[in-house]
Formats: sequence, structure tokens, C-alpha cells
Amino acid sequence: MPDPRRSVAFIGSECYPFVKTGGLGDVMYALPKALIDQNCDVRVIIPRYKCIPWKYQEKMVYRGAFNMDLCADGRSFYVGIMEYVWDGVVYDFIDNEEFFGFGNPYTNLVDDIPKFCYFAKAALAALNYMNWIPDVIHCHDWQAALVPVFLRTMFGNTPLSNAKTILTIHNLRFQGVYNIPTIKYWTNLPDYVFNKDALTQNWLDANMFKGGLDYCDMITTVSNTYAGEIQTPFYGEHLDEHLRYHSGKLYGIVNGIDVNQWNTATDDKLAVQYDISNVLPRKKENKHALQERLGLWQDDHVFVIGLISRLTDQKGLDLVNAIIPQVMDGHTQVVVLGTGDAQYENSFRHYEEAYKGSVCSNIMYDEARAHLIYAGADALLVPSLFEPCGLTQLIAMRYGTIPIVRETGGLKDTVAPYNQYTNWGYGFTFDRYEPGLLLDAINRAKTLYFTNRWCWDEMVQRDMANDVSWGKSAQQYRELYLRLKP
Ligand code: ADP
Repeated sequence: MPDPRRSVAFIGSECYPFVKTGGLGDVMYALPKALIDQNCDVRVIIPRYKCIPWKYQEKMVYRGAFNMDLCADGRSFYVGIMEYVWDGVVYDFIDNEEFFGFGNPYTNLVDDIPKFCYFAKAALAALNYMNWIPDVIHCHDWQAALVPVFLRTMFGNTPLSNAKTILTIHNLRFQGVYNIPTIKYWTNLPDYVFNKDALTQNWLDANMFKGGLDYCDMITTVSNTYAGEIQTPFYGEHLDEHLRYHSGKLYGIVNGIDVNQWNTATDDKLAVQYDISNVLPRKKENKHALQERLGLWQDDHVFVIGLISRLTDQKGLDLVNAIIPQVMDGHTQVVVLGTGDAQYENSFRHYEEAYKGSVCSNIMYDEARAHLIYAGADALLVPSLFEPCGLTQLIAMRYGTIPIVRETGGLKDTVAPYNQYTNWGYGFTFDRYEPGLLLDAINRAKTLYFTNRWCWDEMVQRDMANDVSWGKSAQQYRELYLRLKP
């Protein structure tokens, strides 16, 4: 075990298996567990949403409660702390019926802005209340971005102010922007934080992410390539200049996946389990089961392409929509799993109708189905317009499914392109955001699959052997924590 011990509080808006809408939820679950192996004490603080399944809610233990001043007019709110200890990680759920008592984690900005102003302050107040003063407070995305701002202002005279802060950018697209008076009202933060170098943007708005990036001690993002990309106007979401200014404290550390949660040898959601020694025949059985369950033609010989994604413009779905007719050649099937923008949901429904038996569009969020697709598909598409890290390509590799990705963000850092001359690589890639190039990458994959199966099968095994665990990255986070020594 590396010395010395560090204590870290994770603050974020979602965490698997309690509540997850995307990759952030996976990271909030898997990274703390990996950090425990790096001699860290970790406490995860998330809201206690009503949608957290009862089987977890009933195991939570009441840890305490208090009232907290929040608003500019002195309105105060109840903060309850419910605790659940699991696998060495302590989870503290911030309980408040008014903010978290309905529906899903995110609804609309009008509700979400007050909710996460409250959450950021309540998380710090809860740490103080429990008298647990960590070395590092590790905040995630805009929902926790006000934590460093509160810490350096309103919590300046508390023991907590000795802690250092890291703010991790999982996705810069979402920033928590609203008019200044509203955010002033819901935070009661001093006027001086609403200056153009911190929260204020375009004179009229307050940007919670921007303020957090200014006030935190260190910024990380989830891949090296994305760390560079967000400093350019195309990927910077209007914060590129701000990030260039802060580039001295910006680091990229690529995400991993929890290899126990994603383990083909023990995954009970698969038709048959497999490992690297029997992947070739067993994957075929999973393909068969997938085709049967989804109503596709049952045929071992077709090339099955999976797509598991939020259906938004970030994910490169315009490219996919543009080329599906050219992909459907009688030897290819496409399985989509996702929810999101109506325009994409409807176009995939249309393609299912148009290519009955060859295209299956599952417009839903379904964890079990995702596992079966990872196991049963031959390839997984991730043609994103931008992708901070992306987890689906990592899961795919772990399941022996070949990723076909655009060379952006974490996709570029994790999928080395296949080279037919050296017969080495992990997947198929393309660079510019153009449908023709995606089609070309799919065709290169199909060519290898149909004409040189031996090399394809070797790549399947190489991908399964590839280390996509959190090990190396957790070590890098630990090194940053040490560098932040108070
Ligand atoms: P993002 O965080 O941008 O949504 P990531 O690739 O980082 O994308 O993470 C997506 C995670 O959510 C993966 O674990 C993926 O399997 C899961 N996921 C996405 N859509 C669905 C869905 N419709 N059903 C089940 N799991 C899904």
C-alpha cells in the first residue's frame, strides 16, 4: 500500500447503483473503490433522490440533521444526512424533500439551479457537521462546481477550509448558467465572486462551472486529448479562453471501468458467460440470444453492430442516420439502445420499420439489455462529435466487441486504430466528422470480419486482454492528491 494515507470527499450529482444517467454515475462508483486500493479514505456525497431504489433507501442509516442558511433573504433549509457503508466506501446522502423529493436527478434548469446551489453548500455543511475534514474535496461537473466557491468564501473560517479542491470536468457542455440575480439569491455568495474572472459570463449571466474552475485548486478532465481540446474554441463551449488561462492547473486522466461490475466471466445478465479462452464460440451464443430476444433474424454469420448511447447530437447520430441505408447490405444488423432527443428516437424507430428483422431500436434505458448487447454484438459504434472520455468503448473492448470510434477526446486515447500491415490495434477509427468517413470505418471493419476472420478473432482476444481497469488512473489521481498537500 502506498504511503501516506489521504482522505477524499467525492461530491457529485449521481452514483451507480443508486442513480445513474451516464458515465458520471459509473465514475462516482468505480473511482472511489479503486482509490481505496491506493490507500485513500473515501466518502461519497450525493443527493438522496426519490428515484433511488428502495432496496438501498431501506439500508441507509440516519446520521444527523440541521438547518442551513442558504438564500439572500435568510431562508434556511433542512439538511438530513443518511449514510450507507458498502465495500469500504462511505456514502452520505443529502436529504431534503423539497429539492430531491420528486422524480429524476435532472429536470429543468429552473429547478436544477436552486437544487444544486443547495446541494453544494449542504455537502460542505454536512462534512463540517460530521467533523470529517478531508485532505481533498473532489468535485464533479457543474452540479458540484460551487463547492470550491462556497469553501473559499463562506466556509473560510471553518476547519474545512484546510482542504484542497479538485474539480473534474466530465462534460463541459453542461455548465449551470442562469441570470445573476437568481444565483445570487439562491447562494447569497458575496458580490465579489460575480466578477468576470469567476462566475460572471457575458455581463448578465452567472456560470457555476466557470466560477468553480476559477476557485478550485486543480482542474482535471477525463482524458488527455479532451484536456487539450477544451482549450480550443470548437470544443471549449465558450470557456476555452478561461481554461487556457487556468491551463497550469489542468490535467487529463483517462477514465477506467470497474472490471468486476463489467466482467464477462460472472455477468449474470448474459445468455452465457465467457472469458478470453472461450470467447469465440460463447460470443456466438450471446449473439444468437440477442437476436432471439430482440426479434432479429437469427443468423450467426451476420455482422451485428451495437450502439448504446444517450441520443443527443454529441453522440454523432447524424452521421449514423445518414449512412444506415448503405450499411444495410443483407449481412449486417444494427441494434440501438438509448433515449434522448425525439428527432433521433424517431429516426431510429423509422429505420426499425424500414429494415424489419435487421434493425432493432430499443428506445429505453435498460441496464440488462445493455449488457447483452455488449456481449452479443460484434462491433460497437461511438462516432461522437465530442467525447470527454466515453465508457462504452471501454466496456465493449472488455466484452470482446470491437469499437468503431471517431478520433476525439477519450476515444482517441483509448482505441488504438487497427493497422492491417502490423495486424495490431484495438478498433477502427476515423478523424473528421463526416458520414463518408464513418461508413469507410464500418466497411473496413466488415472487410476484416468477412474476409480475414482470423485477424478479427485475434483482435477480439487482444481487446479483452487490454487493461481498461481503474488501476493506473486511480494511481494518477492519488499523485495529484499528494501534490495538493495542505
Ligand atoms: P455519457 O456519460 O456521455 O452518457 P459514457 O460513454 O461516458 O457516456 O457512459 C454511458 C454509460 O451509460 C455506459 O455505462 C452505458 O452502458 C450506459 N448507457 C447509456 N445509455 C444506456 C441505455 N439506454 N441503457 C442502459 N445503459 C445505458
